[in-house]
Formats: sequence, structure tokens, C-alpha cells
Amino acid sequence: MTDCLFCKIVSGDVPAEVVRASERTLAFRDINPQAPTHVLVIPRDHHPNAAALAAADPGLTADLLREAHEVAAAEGVADSGYRIVFNTGAEAGQTVFHVHAHVLGGRGLNWPPG
Ligand code: IMP
Repeated sequence: MTDCLFCKIVSGDVPAEVVRASERTLAFRDINPQAPTHVLVIPRDHHPNAAALAAADPGLTADLLREAHEVAAAEGVADSGYRIVFNTGAEAGQTVFHVHAHVLGGRGLNWPPG
């Protein structure tokens, strides 16, 4: 999609600090980190949210979750604990409508989230 920020990161038109890439996914640091580790993992294909991705491509959904774990392991937070968040819909805080997994770790995380 031409007007999608994360599609522009996939195409290289918008720069990002990429930490991991696979054939179908990309992981890059969040520009406004909320924890010492805050990485976004996205499919290269455009899907607006997690529900749409899961309905359209279960295999890619699994790839995304595997990649999120690989990011956590590479960041050194897999053993201490980390959180994978999919904000889904505006009221839940979704601001970029290209599905992305937030991988958050490196500090104690409160529950429930705000
Ligand atoms: P959402 O609010 O769940 O949709 O998450 C969108 C995330 O994208 C936020 O955490 C933003 O800080 C992050 N973000 C916005 N623009 C950029 C960018 O250009 N590079 C990296 N992260 C971004």
C-alpha cells in the first residue's frame, strides 16, 4: 500500500533500524521505545491487523510469532521474560494499520497494561 508507513519501511523508502529480516518478515526498533527492548515485527505483506493476518495467512502468522521469539532471544530477554503485543483497533491504541507485533522486554512489565 503506497500510503502505509510500514510498507514504506519494507520497501526502504522510510529508514528503520532493522534488527532481523526473513523472507516474509522484518523486525526493526520502535522509534519511541517503551522498554529497553522494543522491537516491531511485521510481515512484508500488508495486512491491517492481527485478525486480518490470521484469517488471510495462518502460516505467515506463525512465522511472525516465531520471529518475535527470535528477536527476544537475540535481545537477551527470552529467559527473563518479554511481552508480545498486538494493538488491534484504534481504541486499543493501534496507530499504524499494518499489523505489527511489539516485542517488549528488559524491564519489569506491569499487568494489566494501561
Ligand atoms: P501501534 O500504536 O500499536 O499501532 O504501534 C505503532 C508503533 O510504531 C508505535 O510504538 C510507534 O512508536 C512506532 N513507530 C511509528 N513510526 C515509526 C517509524 O518510523 N519507525 C519505527 N517505529 C515507528
